[in-house]
Amino acid sequence: MQGKGSAVEAVPVIEIFSSIQGEGPYVGCRHLFIRFAGCNLSCAYCDTSRAVPGNCRVEVRPGTRRFVHLPNPLTPEEVGVLVSGMNPAGHHAVSLTGGEPLLYPGFLGELIPFLRGARRGIYLETNGTLDEALAQVVKLVDVVAMDVKLPTATGMRPFWEEHRRFLAAAQGKKVVVKAVVTRETPVEEVLAAAEMAQEAKAILVLQPVTARDPGRRPAPAQLLYLQSRALEVAKDVRVIPQVHRLCGML
Ligand code: SF4
Repeated sequence: MQGKGSAVEAVPVIEIFSSIQGEGPYVGCRHLFIRFAGCNLSCAYCDTSRAVPGNCRVEVRPGTRRFVHLPNPLTPEEVGVLVSGMNPAGHHAVSLTGGEPLLYPGFLGELIPFLRGARRGIYLETNGTLDEALAQVVKLVDVVAMDVKLPTATGMRPFWEEHRRFLAAAQGKKVVVKAVVTRETPVEEVLAAAEMAQEAKAILVLQPVTARDPGRRPAPAQLLYLQSRALEVAKDVRVIPQVHRLCGML
């Protein structure tokens, strides 16, 4: 993919839209989302298609699910112009999400300067495994919202070392740590996430998995037990489900 007049390659973007932040401690805040295609992981609960979309869809009016479609890939300038026409000042933050946005650090380095104007700046949502990519853009980001990937939830190997390096690269930033939990999640995995969050002086969010199979969702007593145990090692532990889905929003 060659950039159209840009110093960096154009990249595939799934969608650009304005909605509420549906996860984490800023739930309910109005965010402008740029959802990048592609990811280096493959979590069992992932709700993002792995196929690279031929078009980026841009919602024309928030909440209507009416879109214009722009051919992928897009340059930083193209994304920047689109977003600046969507009233960033009326938003709490511009959220870079995915997929995994840190697959494209060079692109982000050129894009983020176009995205100024949101009240609290740039909110990066990431799987917390690409520390070198984070180091390239961390100065441009205001909040790093990082997943800790628990192996029983993802069905993958643990990423403890990658997460530790990532948190080291995020030092000095406001950090939020989120862990998706399922009915199978053992307390040991949550305690490991809580230790990391505490070291990083971050809020830990336990997010019950949003699964079609109700059998995967943690039971209420299990969630409250995991929260209590995590509070033994971390100062601020919150249980927050995905809220945008309850409202039928993107
Ligand atoms: S890190 Fe996120 S985007 Fe990537 S596979 Fe896991 S849930 Fe999906």
